[in-house]
Amino acid sequence: MNANERRRAGRHFLQIPGPSPVPERVMRAMDMPVLDHRGPEFQKLGKRVLQKLKGVFKTEGPVFIYPASGTGAWEAALANTFSPGDRILMYETGHFSTLWKNMAIKLGLQPEFIPTDWRGGVDASLIERALRDDRERSIKAVCVVHNETSTGVTSRIAEVRDAIDAADHPALLLVDTISGLACADYRHDEWRVDVTVSGSQKGLMLPPGISFNAVSAKALAASKQAKLPRLFWSWEEMIPHNANGFFPYTPATNLLYGLDAAIDLLNEEGLDAVFARHERHAAATRRAVEAWGLETVCRDPRLHSPVLTGVMTPEGCDADRFRAIVLDKFDMSLGTGLGKLAGKAFRIGHLGDINDLTLVGALSGVEMGLTLAGIPHKAGGTQAAMDYLRETAGN
Ligand code: PLP
Repeated sequence: MNANERRRAGRHFLQIPGPSPVPERVMRAMDMPVLDHRGPEFQKLGKRVLQKLKGVFKTEGPVFIYPASGTGAWEAALANTFSPGDRILMYETGHFSTLWKNMAIKLGLQPEFIPTDWRGGVDASLIERALRDDRERSIKAVCVVHNETSTGVTSRIAEVRDAIDAADHPALLLVDTISGLACADYRHDEWRVDVTVSGSQKGLMLPPGISFNAVSAKALAASKQAKLPRLFWSWEEMIPHNANGFFPYTPATNLLYGLDAAIDLLNEEGLDAVFARHERHAAATRRAVEAWGLETVCRDPRLHSPVLTGVMTPEGCDADRFRAIVLDKFDMSLGTGLGKLAGKAFRIGHLGDINDLTLVGALSGVEMGLTLAGIPHKAGGTQAAMDYLRETAGN
């Protein structure tokens, strides 16, 4: 720290929609000597986490772990499943679905992108129609983002599965739940998802650095025919090593200690309780936004995200200037508006290891920041959230 920098007492409020704050117990679990990743001690850890992860994805099938951010797991999902020129159906829910689509183009695939204005979620009827229109059955997969982190919209994956079934189409279903996993209900096997993509730094409450592919038998079979080049991402390379608790290259050993501890925390609280906590905090946040007289990015009341709330700033009010004020005055990071929403929206993350008082602290920082930034709003949002939290305390 140089002489011009202030020391800031207390804890930084990391209220972006991931990375999320890492619990003490997870930090301590990672504070271990680095170990031999080909030795017996690691093998026990490897076997344990590969097995325990299945419960979080609700799958009996394999979950591959990459030493990479979520973008790596996106690439793994595409590279293992497709051949150059394959047609895939993607859905523009926001910035992250757009990035995934751009990646598909770069990899030589032909995505068809169902467009939206980023204020809603996946309309499964449009997927059904596109699949019905595909008489030659040349669309290889439907790829959707479960929780669109750029907007705060959680799409209904079960409805997408039903649409594929209703069209009686053989397309695979690929789902990005990088920010949804362990925050919102997610069922890889029950929804017959073929590849689920996720990451460590959101609901799993770990630092960034590892990411995942949960894979169905159908996707594994498709990978045998898939011709896109791959090595680092190859499921085939992983399978024999994972069977013994090992990896084909050096894994992120200390993050795996953290993963082991993080899954314990989730199981101790109970996944359903974790989801309910996220829903309740999201509902409290929306009370605040409504009382401030501001608009959420999500316009569909059925699809508000339990992970984050995207908030539109009124016309002419720079959301990033507001965020900079909140950071400077109250040491709190809020999520920036991404892509089309740059400068027009900010995002309040309420995911991972947070409780009622964390949320009230965060909302009070937003409310004070709105005043300091001169953003027109009504007072009382934090109070409205507090009323809701008090009324539902213990629920
Ligand atoms: N998909 C979603 C929904 C995300 O929220 C993110 C990151 O925030 C990504 C993909 C990209 O993941 P990463 O930044 O870890 O590479």
